[in-house]
Amino acid sequence: MAISRNPKRMTAPCVIAVAITGSLPRKEQNPAVPITVAEQIESTHEAFLAGASLVHVHVRNEDQSPSADPSLFGAFLRGVRERCPGMIVQFSTGGRSGSGRERGGMLVHRPDMASLATGSVNFPTSVYENPPALIDELAASMKTHGVKPEVEVFDVAMLYNAVRLVKEEKLSMPLHVQFVLGIQNALPVDRGLLEFLIAKLGELAPAATWVAAGVGRHQLEVNRWCLELGGHVRTGLEDNLKLDKTSLAQSNAALVERVVAICADYDRRPATPAEARALLSLPAT
Ligand code: ZN
Repeated sequence: MAISRNPKRMTAPCVIAVAITGSLPRKEQNPAVPITVAEQIESTHEAFLAGASLVHVHVRNEDQSPSADPSLFGAFLRGVRERCPGMIVQFSTGGRSGSGRERGGMLVHRPDMASLATGSVNFPTSVYENPPALIDELAASMKTHGVKPEVEVFDVAMLYNAVRLVKEEKLSMPLHVQFVLGIQNALPVDRGLLEFLIAKLGELAPAATWVAAGVGRHQLEVNRWCLELGGHVRTGLEDNLKLDKTSLAQSNAALVERVVAICADYDRRPATPAEARALLSLPAT
């Protein structure tokens, strides 16, 4: 029997997110990790030209330590808006850059998106603390400033917490969720687990969009799963410093190119910035 193929499905666009810096990688590990805001804007521009439509950013102090300085985030946002028209800018509210409400101090700059972890979890050598009151406070600040959260799911309870926050009107539909796989003490890199999470998300939060991140050597494998299972994709030096077993990634753009090169294997293609905004229910620029 002939199978009719939906032409739209054949070239379904995917949002390629590039996580350029993170809070941990240092130049000693890979000199391509962008640290200053000028380096970050340059690295983002290269990744944008390579096919990324969303940038996830942490900022750093001059000594490479993580920072929560709102002025650094503001300078980054201005630079990317100028150099990369339409690109979605997502600030990290991750815990290594500061504590408590300090983590949301940069939301006044009104980026398109910001990360929001909806629970606490053990990291390899620390506790990633996200107490309920802080989650509520960050979510409220995102609402006030018109910032769409990316819900960071480091453990299964965080998915259910996010759905509850929607019912409590602290988060709005449609959710955008990132499943983070491969951090020791948190979710493992397991295809069956990812399929379970996607199924639950579809059941509990219809119309939600999703992406998964594979940390370290698992990055490319998880990229492939996302493309195959209809999700969006995340890459970048925050999660992984290498191109393959033996060589360092030369840039964030090189990791984006690695994703672009495999899109066609799954009948996908990189979304344009305008498509990415529509897919994630963000306003057009
Ligand atoms: Zn991050």
